[in-house]
Amino acid sequence: MKEFPQIVKNKKTVYTVKQVFLDFIEFDELWRREREKSQIYKGFSCFNCEKKFIDGEKMSVLVTDKRNKVACKKCGEKLLEQALKAKSKEEEI
Ligand SMILES: [Zn+2]
Repeated sequence: MKEFPQIVKNKKTVYTVKQVFLDFIEFDELWRREREKSQIYKGFSCFNCEKKFIDGEKMSVLVTDKRNKVACKKCGEKLLEQALKAKSKEEEI
């Protein structure tokens, strides 16, 4: 069977992280159960590195220019540091 030619385009989306709340929400059964009902929700892993959350793990909340996202502690700390640097630079000007 001959297949039709395909054109693949990956849409790139850039999220600007405005603020980070470290260890903001705990990932648990309730969080998972509530959101498993939703077909669209994808907050079961870190938005940045895609590491899956485990029960009892603290998630960091990222305030971006395109809605809030959840991240693991490692990414949360890294993004917070970068956001603070950007903020202090902004204040210097
Ligand atoms: Zn991560």
